[in-house]
Amino acid sequence: MTDLKPCPFCGEVPQIQHDEWRDEGKDGPAVYIVCRSSTCWAEPSVMGDTEESAAAFWNTRAVVVTDEMVEILHAQLDYLSPNPNCGISQRALRAALEAALGVEGE
Ligand SMILES: [Zn+2]
Repeated sequence: MTDLKPCPFCGEVPQIQHDEWRDEGKDGPAVYIVCRSSTCWAEPSVMGDTEESAAAFWNTRAVVVTDEMVEILHAQLDYLSPNPNCGISQRALRAALEAALGVEGE
């Protein structure tokens, strides 16, 4: 059984439906993963050749970074010492934050 994330719109568990390709020029099985919750206004669905490929599509989520998150990361960067003699983990974290935020190191 493939692990599926809940529906991103309603939070319910989606259903897996095995069917045949109906598109022109396609033969063989198709797998649909669809939210059939009666309270789901979006009713999202994805399709794949296999349960695994459909699940990979279903489980993909966009990464959303809010302005507030960026602000928090900038605050953390200010808190980290720019001293090159500080510990390696602090230097690595500072370098990672600078790269993620697109700011120059000092
Ligand atoms: Zn739903």
